[in-house]
Amino acid sequence: MTTPLHGQMMDVPLTVSSLLAHASRYFGATEIVSKRIEGDVHRYTYRDCEKRAKQLAQALIALGVEPGDRIGTLAWNGYRHLETYYGTTGFGAVCHTINPRLFPDQIAYIVNHADDSYVLFDITFASLVDVLAPQCPNVRGWIAMTDDMHMPPMSTAASSYEALLAKHDGNFDWPLLDERSASNLCYTSGTTGNPKGVLYSHRSTVLHALGASLPGAMGLSARDSVLPVVPMFHVNAWGIPHAAPLTGAKLVFPGKDLDGKSLYALMEAERVTCSAGVPTVWLGLLSYVREAGVRFSSLERTVIGGSACPPAMLRMFKEDYGVEAIHGWGMTEMSPLGTLARLNWEQTQRSPDEQRRLLEKQGHVVYGVDMKIVGADGQELPWDGVAFGDLHVRGPWVIDRYFRKDDSPLADGWFPTGDVATIDRDGFMRITDRSKDLIKSGCEWISSIDIENIAIAHPAVAEAACIACAHPLWVERPLLVVVKRAGLDVTREELLAFYEGKVAKWWIPDDAVFVDQLLHTATGKLHKLKLREQFRDHVLPSARDVENCPLTDRMTAGSGPTPAPE
Ligand code: ADP
Repeated sequence: MTTPLHGQMMDVPLTVSSLLAHASRYFGATEIVSKRIEGDVHRYTYRDCEKRAKQLAQALIALGVEPGDRIGTLAWNGYRHLETYYGTTGFGAVCHTINPRLFPDQIAYIVNHADDSYVLFDITFASLVDVLAPQCPNVRGWIAMTDDMHMPPMSTAASSYEALLAKHDGNFDWPLLDERSASNLCYTSGTTGNPKGVLYSHRSTVLHALGASLPGAMGLSARDSVLPVVPMFHVNAWGIPHAAPLTGAKLVFPGKDLDGKSLYALMEAERVTCSAGVPTVWLGLLSYVREAGVRFSSLERTVIGGSACPPAMLRMFKEDYGVEAIHGWGMTEMSPLGTLARLNWEQTQRSPDEQRRLLEKQGHVVYGVDMKIVGADGQELPWDGVAFGDLHVRGPWVIDRYFRKDDSPLADGWFPTGDVATIDRDGFMRITDRSKDLIKSGCEWISSIDIENIAIAHPAVAEAACIACAHPLWVERPLLVVVKRAGLDVTREELLAFYEGKVAKWWIPDDAVFVDQLLHTATGKLHKLKLREQFRDHVLPSARDVENCPLTDRMTAGSGPTPAPE
């Protein structure tokens, strides 16, 4: 047998610390600006950040933290949180970001399951920590991310972050670590069952940061000023805290103020060019700019994902404000980046309608992610934009198995995402639903996302959710739950009539109800599970008299699975 000829290049491990070291050395004067919990705006540079991250590493080592230990964080987007990203992983500890919007019992479960040795928290979460501490006996210390002056009154014994750092000088060399060792830990939000831990490695994190920065992805560079609205406790703010130092982009952190007015003011003040967040956040920002009659003077593009972005929102960003809104898809198990809707040169030459249709989809994979759709028999389905099936992915930043779970979630080496999708000839993927949110009418499926997107396009609709409602004849039929835009009105009948001609007749919801607000999960998605519970006993008008059910002709009018309106 012939011995393979090995390449003769350096075997430098891909470590998370190398990202900040690079920014500090080559973009040392580039700013990191943070709206602080204390109320003011803090600014310093990548060079300052690395020094303080090293001080934190020294402090944690002095506290007895060892490589592999988990360090929890309960914090908003800010410079101290960024220091924690690097001051933990830099010496081999694992940075475990925790979503403070979860219920305290879920957080306690997560802290205990991760076996966090220390937890660092923003002072806004002091009372939450007082609830958690008695339930988390293995946590050796709680560290408030502030100085002695701002320590909040607490029943838990906590130390101040600044006092800890002050004991160390930052003269510390990041050790060379095995790139396959663990660096970060995030839990899925657990909308189904207990949250599950996804343990990233240094290698997967660096590769993901490279992928996320590519021109066909977020396209970050040292000329950007990037504001991640997506929280650093939600899948590492989609990798921006790693991708920004890699590219030398300026970082702008909004702290806890995520309302439209605060975000707009910060974007303008810091000449933000690129941002990222879930659709609900952009609803707030867009309503603010519309009401205030202002425009963006520097914002060029924003990535929108985490749940389906209504086409109406993409259009508003582009047509009303000249901002490129990039629809993206991913999940905690994928670090999270999977696809982004950006066009290649040839696609930009097509008709405006065709371009729009592509951009409304969840998009094209970034190098590093491979995807396929499979049918119920496990066979791969064609890329024709019509056939829809379970979406499977694989790649170097995709999960292999969950933290502290032995069974593999993979099927033939691929990770089943739980999403249902189509893929078209251009390789653009479109999520039709989460498998558990699809509505099964008779023996056909209806995409709740399509129904929601149409409702959102109605001028009087602020937000909409479409859920399955029990039906004696068709098993399930769609029910639309709507929040009206302030000051505007629409009736149930007008809203249902709005669907005429836009979808197959049998896709039209059987009923529409109006509510003051819709419940969201801790990661900003519509809480469909709760909504289904809330409307479990709702009786659809069409179900009251099955004999005269108007659906009979609707069903015959549309036969077979109807592709989404293209
Ligand atoms: P969870 O909320 O389950 O913790 P994630 O934040 O990782 O998890 O969410 C991943 C899921 O969010 C995806 O599997 C998908 O269902 C949904 N999602 C993310 N981006 C989009 C998008 N652009 N369009 C539709 N669904 C999306």
